[in-house]
Amino acid sequence: MAERYQINEGVVIRRHELTSGDVIVTLLGEHGKWQAKVRKGKRPGGHLGKLSLFHDVTAQYYRKTEDNLAVLTQVQLNGALPRLSDPAIYPYAHVLAELVDKLTVDVHIGEDIYKYFVSSLRGLNQGESPAQITIVYAWRLLQTAGLSPRVKSCVLCGSSDLDQRFDIALGGVTCQTCARGYPISADLLTDLQAIHSLSVRDTLARGLTNPDEHFRLLSRFLAYHVTELNSLASLTQLTTHD
Ligand SMILES: [Zn+2]
Repeated sequence: MAERYQINEGVVIRRHELTSGDVIVTLLGEHGKWQAKVRKGKRPGGHLGKLSLFHDVTAQYYRKTEDNLAVLTQVQLNGALPRLSDPAIYPYAHVLAELVDKLTVDVHIGEDIYKYFVSSLRGLNQGESPAQITIVYAWRLLQTAGLSPRVKSCVLCGSSDLDQRFDIALGGVTCQTCARGYPISADLLTDLQAIHSLSVRDTLARGLTNPDEHFRLLSRFLAYHVTELNSLASLTQLTTHD
């Protein structure tokens, strides 16, 4: 059967080495998520080095039939963001990569998720406030997946007389009468409202008060509405955030 060479591009969001020694890479591009295999022993031109996590690449591949996983034959590195490999930054980039991976299981969410993901990595690469950048973009990515929480009025009755509670399952805050859910601080509530009404830039300029509390809420929200993220569990075991 004829082998059909094709070109695609994207940012590497996951790498998985098989027992055979082949490596499966998962990439998120403007047109969606795709996967390809790098064959063991057929790694000309340092493919695997170019396919490090968070690298932006253009790759040529072929697949023998539509059912087969694409096999990479050429890889061109378009851009790497050097600070993302910094141990102080990497865990945050990993959280966002795992999040976009989980949000795009069997669905194509569109270009927004790719754009937000790329701009989150660029933001992290600048090295300032990685925790805040991760929190703000995590909510933005959830928004592109149609999973925005309700944070301005009660998720049960619509009242704006809010209590400091967030009902994880219902996906939003509750009022003083309904008063259901997980207790949150007043600061967290106003931060969430800012995240969901201001631009990313304005939210980051304003700042967030307590990243640890944000990450605890995000963990619960994601575990219920998406899935638990291993990278976020590792991150929340760290004690210091900006
Ligand atoms: Zn209510």
